[in-house]
Amino acid sequence: MTIKSISGCIGCEECVKSCPCDVIRMDGNKAYIAHAADCQICHLCRMYCPVDAIEMAPEKSIPVILPWG
Ligand code: SF4
Ligand code: SF4
Repeated sequence: MTIKSISGCIGCEECVKSCPCDVIRMDGNKAYIAHAADCQICHLCRMYCPVDAIEMAPEKSIPVILPWG
């Protein structure tokens, strides 16, 4: 499990759209972790969430550093 929790979700679906691995799905207007084992720890869902609803597990909380440009 790399996403620890999703709380305070406002249902914008940005995390669902940003996840390259289809980990997150919507249940009505709330996001939930549907396929935790597929998470590649890219942090895109966390970065795109406008209300910081997604909390990563502590041991996975350092974003992968990507080359710039
Ligand atoms: S960290 Fe990346 S792979 Fe994992 S759920 Fe978020 S967007 Fe998807
Ligand atoms: S990006 Fe954040 S607020 Fe939007 S659906 Fe995902 S968890 Fe909810």
